[in-house]
Parts: sequence; C-alpha cells; structure tokens
Amino acid sequence: MSKTLYTDDYKSEPYWLEGVTSLDVQDSTLPEKADVVVIGSGYTGLHTALQTARAGRKTVVIDKGNIGCGCSTRNGGQVSSSIKPDIEELTKFFGQDCAKAIRREGENALNWIETFIKDEAIDCDFERNGLYYAAHTPRHYELIARDTEILQREDGIEAFAVSEQDQRTELGSNAYFGGVVFPNHAALHAAKYHSALAKKVSDAAGLLVSHCNANSIVRHASSGDSQFSIKTSKGTIKARNVMIATNGYTGELTPWLQRRLIPIGSYVIATEPLAKEKIDSLFPTARPVCDTCKVVYYYRASPDRTRVLFGGRVSANETNPMVSAPRLHQQMCRIFPELEHTRISNSWTGTVSYTFDSMAHTGIFNGMHYALGYCGSGISLSSYLGMRAGQKIIEHADGATAFDNLPFPSRPLYRGKPWFLPAALN
Ligand SMILES: Cc1cc2nc3c(=O)[nH]c(=O)nc-3n(C[C@H](O)[C@H](O)[C@H](O)COP(=O)(O)OP(=O)(O)OC[C@H]3O[C@@H](n4cnc5c(N)ncnc54)[C@H](O)[C@@H]3O)c2cc1C
Repeated sequence: MSKTLYTDDYKSEPYWLEGVTSLDVQDSTLPEKADVVVIGSGYTGLHTALQTARAGRKTVVIDKGNIGCGCSTRNGGQVSSSIKPDIEELTKFFGQDCAKAIRREGENALNWIETFIKDEAIDCDFERNGLYYAAHTPRHYELIARDTEILQREDGIEAFAVSEQDQRTELGSNAYFGGVVFPNHAALHAAKYHSALAKKVSDAAGLLVSHCNANSIVRHASSGDSQFSIKTSKGTIKARNVMIATNGYTGELTPWLQRRLIPIGSYVIATEPLAKEKIDSLFPTARPVCDTCKVVYYYRASPDRTRVLFGGRVSANETNPMVSAPRLHQQMCRIFPELEHTRISNSWTGTVSYTFDSMAHTGIFNGMHYALGYCGSGISLSSYLGMRAGQKIIEHADGATAFDNLPFPSRPLYRGKPWFLPAALN
C-alpha cells in the first residue's frame, strides 16, 4: 500500500459507517412463523417491512450479512428521480400514457422520500440542493441541453443548462464542457438514513435477523396462513407473504429474477479532511455531480463539507477496493488536479443491478412480491417501491404503481453472470 496515497487510518469500508450506530443483530434467532418475511435489509426491504409491521403484521427481515450490508450503506448519497429511459423510449414500448405515468413515478419517489424523511424526523443530512450533470464532450453538452428542453416541456421537470463559460459557478473544474442543473434533486447521508429506517422497523416490532441466508423457498399448494416455507442458514420459517428485496445481490434463491438482473460493481473513495476553502472552491454550490461518461463518475462533498466522495467504475471486470482506490484517485485528479496530493481515507464497493430495459421492476412472481433493478440510482425509487410493495401486502388502496408487472425482459442463455459486461463498458 503506497503510504502517500492512503491515510494511516485507511479503511476498506464505507466512509458512511464512521460513527453511525449499526444494528448488530448477529445473535438474533429466527422465529418459526411470521406473517411477512422480507429477504434483504436495504432500503427496499426495510420500507416494505415498515408498512407491514406498522399494520400489525408479524414481520421478519432477514439478511445474509449485517443488516444493511448491501448498497444501502455504500452508495453515493445522491437522490434523484431515477428513471433512466426517456419519454420517447418509454412511449415506444408502453404507449404515451404509461410512459408518462412511469416518468411521473420518478418525481413521485423523489417527493415522497423528502416527505417521509421530514415526517419521520429522520436525521440523515437530507438536503434538496439539486444536482449538476456535467458534459464530458461538447456533443454531450448539446445533447443534454436539448434534452433539458424536452424534459421541461414533456415532463414538467425543472432543469437549466449551464454553459462552459459559466461552469465555474457550479464546479471548480475545467474538465467539462458545461452541464445541466436539476435543482430539485437531493442528497443524503446513506448510512444515517438506513440506520434510522432500521430503528423504525424495530420500533414497529419488526424483527431484524442478520447473518441469515435464505437458501430456498417452497410455496405450498394450500393458501392458508403459511403459504411459504423459507429455508435459511438459521432454520426454516413459514410465512403468508414473502418480499424479495435482494437487488444487486440476487442469487440462485430466485433464478427467475437472477435471469433478469445484471449485477455490476460500483466503487467509491473518500478523501482525508480538506480545508473548507478547498471544498468551497471545488463545490461552490452544495450540489452533487455526475457526468455524461458512458461509465459515469459521480462525486460530491461529504455532508459536513470536509471531504470529497468520488465514485465510478474503473475496471472492466469486478475488482476490489485496493485496486479501485488508486484508479478512482487518478480520475478525481483528472477533474480536480489540485487534489493530487490528497490522501484516501476510505475505499469501498457495492453491487447494483441493471436490467435489460434500464428500468426498475416490481410485481409478483410465484406469489412472492419483489422490487429491484434500480440501475445504479435507487435511493428514492427503492424506498418508494419498497413502501408500495408493503402497501400491496397489507392490501392498502395506495399500493399500485406505474411499474407494476411490466414485462421484465431477460436474454436467451443469460443466467445472471454478465460475461458481456467488459465489452459493453468499453
Ligand atoms: C457504490 C454505489 C454507489 C451508489 N450511488 C447511488 C447514488 O448516489 N444514488 C442512488 O440513488 N443510488 C445509488 N446507488 C444504488 C442504491 O444504493 C441502491 O439502488 C439501493 O440501495 C438498493 O437498495 P436495496 O434495498 O434494493 O438493495 P441493497 O441495499 O443492496 O440490499 C439487498 C440486500 O439483500 C441481501 N440478500 C441478498 N440475497 C440474500 C439471501 N439469499 N438471503 C438473505 N439476504 C440476502 C444482501 O445481503 C443485501 O443486504 C449506489 C450503489 C452503490 C453500490
């Protein structure tokens, strides 16, 4: 390990976990029966559980690792409206009304998460200061500036273009050719949000069981109180409802979903604390940044404005945080040359899941609910679709979404191992 690149207290763990109470429930035992078993303890699973537990359903959330060990404590904390395909593309597949409804759900999710955090008094540094979307070529600037007009006209989404000449008001870098500001996007502290959510589930009598791998699920013919038996590393539990909230970590437990999801690693570093003036010069506004590169770089100041958090994908094949750290550092210095001698305090990775139609999916298969496939930007959508899935389980009238049971494409011979990724990302 190069001494000059890393701080003495360097950790291959998310910066977000520093000082955040983790719900260590390693010793928790699995009951024999529940109304609802949620598999996966990230934002999706916890929001489902919060709905069902508060409705009085005996709810058990299991995770194969620590509670929240997946993306929900590893992300960049940029909260967007999350819908990747544009209105034209969606209209081609689903017709205009459905396309509009899907795009509206992105805005619904963003508005809803803000209301949820405020109403529940969650202390997670949530700030709605917008996002700067930076163009890495002049052609990309033209494209995104044009799309901005369409977004405003068709979707009513607030956005404005910033030319290369004016860019320094948004970003202390000459690496881009202008960009677009989405003033309604937001940012939060990933692990504070997750930890508060887990506590709320617990307070609502939801049981969190960590280090409990779901190995198989059997659906019984009779539809009584125990429609499902879930065999886990901590024993078997019977349940009336099952929610699959495994996103990028979806495995052989649910082959039907595994065939539809493309797991992709994303990598982040945090710098050592920097002088306030430096952070202010790099990030003159409080907006996080992402760019138009095919393999996107996303970065921001930490919520306390002491560090730079810089993320992206820097390897064709999956790698580890010690390999990704110097490469991310190099990219960060390409954008901010003055950070050349800045050391790295944390480097980490997590696995997101993409889908073949670049859309998140939610619905029911084999009687089990699911919500996943957020294509790399799922803080708001995983929270929102997880919440809606919970409402569906308790048969709440508001549970429906525009995403429900849309066709969920796979590819012939695809079994969940994306052999095509290195070529696709080049
Ligand atoms: C590095 C990185 C940066 C990101 N940045 C952003 C960002 O800035 N903005 C944004 O909106 N999104 C971002 N994301 C994506 C976002 O974090 C995810 O979309 C969101 O957290 C998904 O939540 P989830 O609950 O569906 O999945 P996760 O939080 O990944 O939870 C899934 C859980 O399922 C568990 N599990 C899987 N299989 C089993 C099993 N058989 N038995 C028991 N448990 C199981 C896993 O252990 C895991 O804990 C980022 C992701 C990463 C990795």
